[in-house]
Amino acid sequence: MNHFEKPKITGGEGSLPEEKFTSIVRVLGKKYEDISEAERQKVLEIMEGRFINQKKFKEDLLRDFGSVENIPEAIRTIFLEREKTSEEVEIINIVNEKTNELRKKFGFSELNISPENIYVISQNAPWPKSLDPDYYYVPIGQFIVIREPKIKQLGSSKTIFTKNILHAIIHFKSYNALKKLENSSEFNVYKAGLENYKRGDDSKPYFGNLNEAIVEELTISLLKELESCLLLKDEFEQTEGIKKCLSEEKTKEGKPLLNGNEFYIAFDKETDTLHSAEFGRSQERRILNKLIDKIYRKNVGQFKNKEEVFDLFAKAVMTGRIMRMGKLIDKTFKEKPFRKIAEIYDINALEEYVDSLK
Ligand SMILES: [Zn+2]
Repeated sequence: MNHFEKPKITGGEGSLPEEKFTSIVRVLGKKYEDISEAERQKVLEIMEGRFINQKKFKEDLLRDFGSVENIPEAIRTIFLEREKTSEEVEIINIVNEKTNELRKKFGFSELNISPENIYVISQNAPWPKSLDPDYYYVPIGQFIVIREPKIKQLGSSKTIFTKNILHAIIHFKSYNALKKLENSSEFNVYKAGLENYKRGDDSKPYFGNLNEAIVEELTISLLKELESCLLLKDEFEQTEGIKKCLSEEKTKEGKPLLNGNEFYIAFDKETDTLHSAEFGRSQERRILNKLIDKIYRKNVGQFKNKEEVFDLFAKAVMTGRIMRMGKLIDKTFKEKPFRKIAEIYDINALEEYVDSLK
């Protein structure tokens, strides 16, 4: 293939990226033609190697960095993993099945994330401060790190583990692309779902807020579909029971005790305390839903329901194709706000902007 010719995997709306045994579907230079096809294939091969064989990845890390302490913190954590329980392995398999259904919906074949690529870290082990406190996904390492969701005397919650694994695996199985770093032979994440990192500045990616909102909304709907699953049934029933009991309860300040975002609640009789876990990204999701509401109302007759509008956003996350979503946003509002929505990084500013759209 000619280096200056964009390969088929970039395709139009009709064709989807070529399948690889890694979550990385594209590798780019500063401009697409800035890296050779040979270099591109080499990076994809390295990624495939990491996806297939984490043991070798760890051996390579130790060789390259000399010792565990020299490895960057977000990656070093994998050396602290504790053995997964058989239930955790079962949950990973269930989540793989569920998220493969999601991939199929958007035209992709199955991609199974092996338990070997998921590192469970115990509560008392050190955890990188700069990262999400519960779990994170490292595209360049092809792995997920998750902290065991232990609640004091109550022990581990299967529901919280499932919810966190769902969210992380959706990131893993969404559109992932790498880009060569400036003045370096190294590559790093360029796109993950909608999230788009600018060159030379990885602190404020485009679409960061919307991407998280969509991934968490997908997590919520997939978790709901798992309510009857044998492994989780008891915890779901327990949560529902407590929710019913407490639906009228108020806090000392007179606010409702439960906010409706809880997906897991347990009561510790010994200490007389309530423990709950809530779905995340509530402001991001509120902004997304406001945007979807407005698009649905302003495009009368074009969508059967709001779900169809959401699917367009979800499709953009899974395939990396943002043009249809972008065109819809721009044709809906006078302001043609697609680019600005991408660029506003501050979440309060983004909410204000979406509120202001006419
Ligand atoms: Zn996330």
